[in-house]
Amino acid sequence: MKVLVLNCGSSSIKYQFIDTTSKIALAQGMVERIGMSSAILTHQPHDREKIKIVGEILDHNIAIEYVIAVLLSPNHGVIKDKKEIDAVGHRVVHGGETFSGSVLITDQVMKALKDNIELAPLHNPPNIKGIQATKEHLPSTPQVGVFDTAFHVKMPPRAYLYGIPYELYKKYKIRRYGFHGTSHRFVSERAAAILGKPIEQLKIITAHLGNGCSMAAVDGGRSVDTTMGFTPLEGLIMGTRSGDLDSSIILYIMAKEGLSLSEANTLLNKHSGLIGISGESSDMREIEEAVAEGNKKAKYAFDVFTYRIKKYVGAYTAAMGGLDALVFTGGIGENSVMVRKDVCMNMEFLGIMFDELANQNVKGECSISSSDSKVNVLRIPTNEELVIALDTELIVTEQLSLKQSASVK
Ligand code: ADP
Repeated sequence: MKVLVLNCGSSSIKYQFIDTTSKIALAQGMVERIGMSSAILTHQPHDREKIKIVGEILDHNIAIEYVIAVLLSPNHGVIKDKKEIDAVGHRVVHGGETFSGSVLITDQVMKALKDNIELAPLHNPPNIKGIQATKEHLPSTPQVGVFDTAFHVKMPPRAYLYGIPYELYKKYKIRRYGFHGTSHRFVSERAAAILGKPIEQLKIITAHLGNGCSMAAVDGGRSVDTTMGFTPLEGLIMGTRSGDLDSSIILYIMAKEGLSLSEANTLLNKHSGLIGISGESSDMREIEEAVAEGNKKAKYAFDVFTYRIKKYVGAYTAAMGGLDALVFTGGIGENSVMVRKDVCMNMEFLGIMFDELANQNVKGECSISSSDSKVNVLRIPTNEELVIALDTELIVTEQLSLKQSASVK
């Protein structure tokens, strides 16, 4: 099946056109600066040069029209007819408590997505716009929603409840949701496959470290805890987000600096984390360069970043009562030799025997722990788009066979 995977943000749409049989992205690209006069579409067919088109793309509807047009383009496209797009899979950020798995988009699902807007006011509206625009341009193509939160929905109450009055959970659905679920699911399943054991028998910690960072405790294939919470702000230090914080601090800063709610929100989401502590950059590569040059604040930022990951490794090992594998993924997890080393050093007491040489020479999916290590430390590149494409294929195929058996009856 050929699936168009869409990740619709407020001013950008990332896409991949994936052949689920070969698991290859036949083309991929991105529309940026939607709503501006000089929007940019970057498109890369898998077998030809990357191209860039600059033009006016005023909304998501036009952006999707451009994406379909470039997929059909005689020079840069990969299909000859729209009908070759068998299905569309959408990354949807927040499924609330409603969705514990991927679903075929129906009117009922759209209503539930709209009901969840309050929980993700920045993310769900562009996801919804993307689905609506796709429906307009590809009216008879099935669409599937794959949720960032779904993998974590079945966490036990002890992990998802906060220490605030229970009524607030009931009234406003304030609980831990967790995000990056598609990635945590993918890499934990890959870890089980690499280790050649049923996932049901494994206790795995997955660390997705990108611009946004989160970890998950995956016990028997199920996420039993994760670091991001009600929003993607909680947990690890990230490029620009604070992660865990004594909540009184923000009230104190608001009072001292006379900040509005929106300014406080911006402070925590955009000016904190690596950029906040270092004052240099939100990008780990630049932090590492600054550390190498002896920049003290960059070193603080780096240390806070890795120390917190280390603490969560300990916490989640305790939460699961053991650990079989620790997985690094995401731009930082896959590429930063320094971060992986800092996290894994002096962890022999936990059964982690780190292999420094292997850590310096990583390639693809690989182990970075020594052969006598009780805990397998793995580097596994994530592939959220592939998961979305495969989920989409599964759900669309199921629907088709349901329809067929109903018509036979
Ligand atoms: P996103 O969460 O937006 O998908 P990525 O997963 O691509 O982001 O991760 C981006 C992060 O990965 C940035 O902080 C970047 O500096 C970091 N990164 C990428 N390559 C390296 C590298 N070689 N060494 C250290 N950090 C890296």
